[in-house]
Amino acid sequence: MNEASRRQAAGTQQHFAERFGAHPDGVWTAPGRVNLIGEHTDYNEGFVLPFAIPHHASVAVRRTDTGTLRVAGRQDVAGHGAVEVDLARLVAEDGRGAAAGLPGWARYVAGVFWSLGREAGEPGDLRAGYEIVLDSSVPIGAGLSSSAAIECAVGVAVNDLAGLGHTGEELVLICQRAENEFVGAPTGILDQSASLLSEAGHALFLDCRSRQSRVVPLALAEAGLEILVIDTKVSHAHESGGYGQLRSACETGAQMLGVAALRDVAVADLMAAEAELPGQIFSRVKHIVTENQRVLDSVDLLGSDGFDPAALGGLLTASHASMRDDFGNSCPEMDLAVDSAIAAGAFGARMTGGGFGGSAIALVKKGDADAVRDAVVRAFAEAGHAAPDVFSVLPSPGARRQA
Ligand code: ADP
Ligand code: MG
Repeated sequence: MNEASRRQAAGTQQHFAERFGAHPDGVWTAPGRVNLIGEHTDYNEGFVLPFAIPHHASVAVRRTDTGTLRVAGRQDVAGHGAVEVDLARLVAEDGRGAAAGLPGWARYVAGVFWSLGREAGEPGDLRAGYEIVLDSSVPIGAGLSSSAAIECAVGVAVNDLAGLGHTGEELVLICQRAENEFVGAPTGILDQSASLLSEAGHALFLDCRSRQSRVVPLALAEAGLEILVIDTKVSHAHESGGYGQLRSACETGAQMLGVAALRDVAVADLMAAEAELPGQIFSRVKHIVTENQRVLDSVDLLGSDGFDPAALGGLLTASHASMRDDFGNSCPEMDLAVDSAIAAGAFGARMTGGGFGGSAIALVKKGDADAVRDAVVRAFAEAGHAAPDVFSVLPSPGARRQA
């Protein structure tokens, strides 16, 4: 555990004691993620290659016998009071009704209880009573998956405390269901898989159809490399934005091509597909099909000794061009982040996350990181955009008990 996470865990514990007047039973943590490559491929049953970042959500949790879930957050977004939910009402088949009375942020926590209850035989332990303080260093709405970090931290904590015995793979689906059906955001399994299944020094190669995953070495530090995250501060909203529209365009494309999912279309099939599909649907399909291939190519590269950073960078940049030109989920700030990073010496760069803002990543030589950061900040100032946050990340561990 590094110094920053030790401090965060201690702060979360202390806040818990102040808020609830008792010591928590423990602190559990789950990271945000960067998706190295493979964007919007998850719900098309394709491939993704995320890694966990050092920024993470922590939850301090105490089991009680009050029958109530009490949740308080440390960040401003959560307000100052504790939110209370009756667990008998929440952990029930129609428990989704409880979401209506909750502030948005608390739904990510309550949703996990509801979703765990869909799995449990006798959900008594889930209804016992819990006090939770949520604390997170994952920037919100920056495309780094602050939402899944919360769900997964709560998921591993309650799984332990209630003795539910779910595997990481099971928790992926449980947390995804919370986000899809309780919060109402139609996201795939990428975020939860990265948060729950990642390992330090590795990326997670995930086949979203079979849900099989394996870690792939991503030895950046050893190769003298870093990944810079460029948080453009342009906010996005999965719940209301274009994410759902893109998702249905992909479904339409798959239907018209007569395949179960776009995963089943190969790059070699694209020419024929172009003749069959309306122009915009074809563009969306083309991104997904070529992106799946870029993920496979990236895994091949990383599997070889001493991977070639220029080749990986080329795949990242091609992924960005595909989103900008074909998928339509980029934005001017994102294109500027990518272009200015590459002009300043990055091996490659791309938007990461669902799109319409959020963060870009750039693969850089360690010694070039400052120059790239300065160039991006300067380009944003010259264009009149708000200053981006630029920081470097290395592949970090997945969700676990921390204290
Ligand atoms: P992303 O997952 O890309 O960061 P989302 O829109 O999926 O963006 O999730 C962001 C939401 O998660 C916020 O609007 C808020 O409801 C919740 N959230 C994230 N971090 C925190 C936090 N530290 N405290 C309270 N709520 C949070
Ligand atoms: Mg999210």
